[in-house]
Amino acid sequence: MPIRAARVLARSSLALFIAAPLAAQNPAPAADSAPDPIAQMVARLDLEHYKATIKGLTQFGDRRQGTERNRKAVDWIEQQLKSYGCTNTERITYQYDVPAPRPATGAAPARRARAAYPAEGGSHVRGNRARTGVNTDSLAQPDPRVRALDTEQTTSGERQEVYCTKIGTTHPDEMYIVGGHMDGIGWGEAANDDGSGTAIVMELARVFSSPDVKTDRSIRFILWNNEESGLNGSRAYVAQRQALQGKESPAGSGKYPEPRWLGMVQHDMMLFDHGMPLADGTLPKEQRPEADVNIEFQSNSKMAAESNKLAWVFASANDKYATDYPGTVGQHMTNTDSAPFQDIIPSISLRENERGAQIGGGWDPNWHQPTDMFKTYSDKDFRLGLNAAQTTLGAIATLTGARLVK
Ligand SMILES: [Zn+2]
Repeated sequence: MPIRAARVLARSSLALFIAAPLAAQNPAPAADSAPDPIAQMVARLDLEHYKATIKGLTQFGDRRQGTERNRKAVDWIEQQLKSYGCTNTERITYQYDVPAPRPATGAAPARRARAAYPAEGGSHVRGNRARTGVNTDSLAQPDPRVRALDTEQTTSGERQEVYCTKIGTTHPDEMYIVGGHMDGIGWGEAANDDGSGTAIVMELARVFSSPDVKTDRSIRFILWNNEESGLNGSRAYVAQRQALQGKESPAGSGKYPEPRWLGMVQHDMMLFDHGMPLADGTLPKEQRPEADVNIEFQSNSKMAAESNKLAWVFASANDKYATDYPGTVGQHMTNTDSAPFQDIIPSISLRENERGAQIGGGWDPNWHQPTDMFKTYSDKDFRLGLNAAQTTLGAIATLTGARLVK
């Protein structure tokens, strides 16, 4: 029987034996006022630590897949995970062939939408939109240090991505997957896309790996590679590991190299929610006070109903545990590493904005640009990412039965 049910039963049967006058003399049981252990875990996240992890990732420039700086970043992430106590790191190895270059089409021009028009993920762009595209011009990066860092171009070959796993105490054979992508593009530092999401996954690995944190179910923390080239790292993971789910290996060992997948949550671009572009195509300079964490599922997927349900668990965790910014649920999840999972298990993404209508409509001027640098963002921006971390930590802790032990 779950602990909670047992406690309720004990209390109600106790009540049968207590006469009314005696009960009136006794205050309410202390168990209800005990501090929420999940709130205590969420309090172990902080803005400076989150920023420092993003800063650490930016030492490898844009971490573009298929380069030395990308491989060094994978090594660094693995070292960090181990230093947090998430010591059982593993790597997925796969092959990626760079497609022949297509002629440059240039950035999509800025224009004012006369009416709503269809965008990715089933969404519609409305109102003002601004220019989007991938910067491929090295000279657009004014800082010679960053330009030099980002100079090596991608080549076909072997790729790796790293993960580590918190093993559940009572259900080690079931897990939630918490992801972000560590590769970037655009001749900047990929601080927001997706240093900000990668750092959330790493920060959660740190908190959950503390020796006094126990969970009933397992949690896998994974930093995808090759997201920008077409979700190739997450697709490789699904291809290699879907069939291994729930198998004990070696037999009788109590070990499950691939616990059964219960849900997947992706974090991709977490910092910048300054609102809709202005009529001239520029963006407001400050984080808008009504900024929110966008929790999206894909309504046009086989697991839509289950993913919708998972999204609301995250919205509730946001209500309970996020300090500054609310969560908003939407049905247009698209273009990120949760997509390869969306027809298999409940899958959601957390972002600064809706990917299809808002990021696609030019709401993030640093997206795939040389300006995606650590120094571009203010504490108000970083705090939105921290609130997403609080949201996911609260939700995953609840879903896996997390508790603190002495
Ligand atoms: Zn991204």
